[in-house]
Amino acid sequence: MAAESATPDQPRCMFPQTRALEVHLPAGFEVADTSRLIWLAKRAGFNTILLNCFRQGYTTFLSETMRAYGFPDQDPQFRGNDPVAPILAAARAESVKTYALVEGLCVGGAMGRRGPILRRRPEWGVRGRERLGRASNPPYLCPVNHDVRRFLGDLFHEILEGYSFQGLYVRHLHYPLEQPNQRAGFCCCDYCHRAVWHSLGVKLNEIPDDPDHPDRYNLTSWQGKQLTGLLRYLRLRAAKVSERSLVLAEAYLGYGDERLPPESFGYADGCSWAENRLAPIAVFRPLPGTCESDEGWIRRIIAMTQCALVMPVLSASPESKLTEILQRLAFEPVAGVVICEPYDLTAPPLTQLVRGPWREPSQIAEDQPAVSVCALLAETVKRLPPDDPVRAFLADVLRILEPLSGRWSATQRESLYENLLGLEERIADERIVLGNTTPAVLRNFRLARQLLRLMEAEL
Ligand SMILES: [Zn+2]
Repeated sequence: MAAESATPDQPRCMFPQTRALEVHLPAGFEVADTSRLIWLAKRAGFNTILLNCFRQGYTTFLSETMRAYGFPDQDPQFRGNDPVAPILAAARAESVKTYALVEGLCVGGAMGRRGPILRRRPEWGVRGRERLGRASNPPYLCPVNHDVRRFLGDLFHEILEGYSFQGLYVRHLHYPLEQPNQRAGFCCCDYCHRAVWHSLGVKLNEIPDDPDHPDRYNLTSWQGKQLTGLLRYLRLRAAKVSERSLVLAEAYLGYGDERLPPESFGYADGCSWAENRLAPIAVFRPLPGTCESDEGWIRRIIAMTQCALVMPVLSASPESKLTEILQRLAFEPVAGVVICEPYDLTAPPLTQLVRGPWREPSQIAEDQPAVSVCALLAETVKRLPPDDPVRAFLADVLRILEPLSGRWSATQRESLYENLLGLEERIADERIVLGNTTPAVLRNFRLARQLLRLMEAEL
């Protein structure tokens, strides 16, 4: 039987789970350190690297675009070096996929330092309202300004064209969160003044602070739409380089009984991005000051898997509960996980994962969705007893679909999606009884359905 040959032992049929590590190269990084970095990441179980290419307004590599716009063409700490190319080569040799990690709108450093872009083009920045005689102007670009959009589009185009990245991983695609209450205000730059007057017919400086005032409410939703528009634009620019370039956008995900106001997460509505499939994978991180190991947050992550492929951003500092969280998520349909800084690849918890929650090797979920779907179905076949009717159905599906891997017709995808959904419903209300394999089968089916949707979006 074809299904029997599709065992999870074959490399192409490993369980699909993206295990991504954020990598910021340290000052003084030598090309000779490259192999060790990739080796350590691979040894810890990672199959994906998010390599910092644009941070705090500087590029890691020598950038023509930055030069053309009159900005420094490379972060001075890497001057004379191209650390990106050797990392990509080393990662390719180890079959580790690489995304370019770019900080979208945040172009400054700690303590509000503005960075080179805003020093040269202050009119591009988000402008706070005068309050108590001082304006708060955090080091963020205004997402409404079309010159900003074009600059980011040009820069990210250059990255994708010049290097063989899987795609972009965009962070800070939101308005700045303000201290101390971590809520974003709105931008009062000249560009926004004109755009708000044009779109909403009101003067920005006359909008009251009262969040329930209709003008304020309209402005809030308008700002959210600007960020969504920027994400759409960046996706289009990436697609112009290659149809295969993916754009993953990170957003904050809050939790709690009350629905959080949009300013709490910088107006970037990651949930609606996920629901509307604006990104192939919805990547969520906890709001500043909240804890990722909190059951409330984990339940929100799981809830979002109903409508999208989802990856949480987790920390691997020594005091984090990374292992426990990964074990908690083991039977939930998350597409993978992103480990953010700070971490130590030579110390727990990262050195413990391959003996614990990452004991089984994995393949990248979104890379070849058809292969991932087949791997999930084959994994389910392996779990079910030989005379089980669900197993017989899946074996048939694998026999028909596997040889066509990646070239499934819309009808085939749609019919498999509907069949998996129907089975999920019958398993969930116990019309089909699978005993203790139930959680794994439900996880596999939901993940497979989201991957089928991803294939649809790609066509
Ligand atoms: Zn603005």
